[in-house]
Amino acid sequence: MTREVDVLVVGAGPAGLVAAAGLATTGARVEVLERDPWPGGAPLHCAHRGFGSWPRARTGPAYARLLADAALRAGADLRTGVTALDWAGPRALATVGPGGAETITARAVLLATGARERPRAARLVPGTRPAGVYTTGELQRAVHRHGQHVGDRAVVVGAEAVAHAAADTLRAAGAEVVALVTELPRPPVHPARTLDTRLRHGTPVLTGTTVAELLGHGRLSGVRVRHRDGRTTVLRCDTVVFTGDFVPEHELARRGALALDPGTRGPAVDGALRTTRPGVFAAGSLLHAVESAAVAAREGAHAATVVRDRLESGASDGPPAAVPLVAGPPLLRVTPNRVTPADRLPYLLRTAIPLNRPVLYVTQDGRPLHRARLPLTTAVPHRPLTLTARWTHRVDPDGGPVRVTVA
Ligand SMILES: Cc1cc2nc3c(=O)[nH]c(=O)nc-3n(C[C@H](O)[C@H](O)[C@H](O)COP(=O)(O)OP(=O)(O)OC[C@H]3O[C@@H](n4cnc5c(N)ncnc54)[C@H](O)[C@@H]3O)c2cc1C
Repeated sequence: MTREVDVLVVGAGPAGLVAAAGLATTGARVEVLERDPWPGGAPLHCAHRGFGSWPRARTGPAYARLLADAALRAGADLRTGVTALDWAGPRALATVGPGGAETITARAVLLATGARERPRAARLVPGTRPAGVYTTGELQRAVHRHGQHVGDRAVVVGAEAVAHAAADTLRAAGAEVVALVTELPRPPVHPARTLDTRLRHGTPVLTGTTVAELLGHGRLSGVRVRHRDGRTTVLRCDTVVFTGDFVPEHELARRGALALDPGTRGPAVDGALRTTRPGVFAAGSLLHAVESAAVAAREGAHAATVVRDRLESGASDGPPAAVPLVAGPPLLRVTPNRVTPADRLPYLLRTAIPLNRPVLYVTQDGRPLHRARLPLTTAVPHRPLTLTARWTHRVDPDGGPVRVTVA
């Protein structure tokens, strides 16, 4: 069966839902495909109160409900249990769901497929293959969705905000958290609420430490860790959770031969969130695994505006010439990562190492375009840096790549 809609959104997380709400209010026929049985994306599995703006932050499920209700009220069609499998044309997707296989053609497609955590196998952790090994997503589904008891003594690999969310989930499920283990030389500083949680529970954070081996047959019996000085210790536990290390859920982008950005590993987009395929847009964690839900929602709203403009103008051509935007080391990535002189969306960057009083320089073919001292004493790897787009009008669309460097 083949159907036609105005806009097809893949993924009902914050980015997809906010975009769908913004587009449906204009009268466009908007359909959102979500492979999970419920709309909401990653927040749906996060019981902690960290979504939306403080002090009125909500739990993940409450935030997910709010966004899904807004999209439904605006008139978007949310179809859960439906997976977009592959492209069936420039703006057509082959899908499968409870009603069987279907091809949906759209005037515009928004990819908002989010990110996934790299599991133990992809992290090349040696050892046996026992039960009791999770990613944060798997843990949260098991505990918050299915009410399962996951184990009694757990080790969490990671020490960033997601690791603390995993530790809270384990405690909520009745497990003792033996330790958080991180390669970082010191624990990342978190907003007060997370730090408070860590101190309140007194869980040790083992810094400069890596997981050397998983032990146990049938069920996990321990994790061998290697400390900075080469010593190894066995932490007795029946559960280990690998947190963080997100990669964009970019299968559809790859299958569609959309250009990928080497820094983010998501589809390359310009400031209007246009991918390299005309009429195909991308937003949210797919572009930068992972920033906050507010960032994903903001991009969803921005995508709604640019898609609406495209529908209203009847344009079917490709994006205007955009030049690559490249982050130089120690900056890891920048999003958006293509630039046109018309772009206005702020840029998000990540650094590999802490930076004191960072100053960003933007150049093209050696020509300075912008210099910005960031309002930060120290930039840290687990937090985004923001660069305004006030310099994009100076970009030469026929010039070479634009570079962002830091000093
Ligand atoms: C453990 C954890 C804790 C977090 N805590 C916070 C927090 O406290 N505060 C905060 O602001 N942010 C938090 N975040 C980040 C926040 O969840 C993300 O920024 C946000 O969910 C990104 O939204 P998104 O729409 O881009 O992607 P997602 O929320 O990941 O949604 C993408 C959706 O696309 C669907 N999908 C993927 N591929 C397909 C396909 N082929 N067909 C159909 N559907 C598909 C997926 O099933 C998913 O539902 C946390 C994230 C995690 C993992």
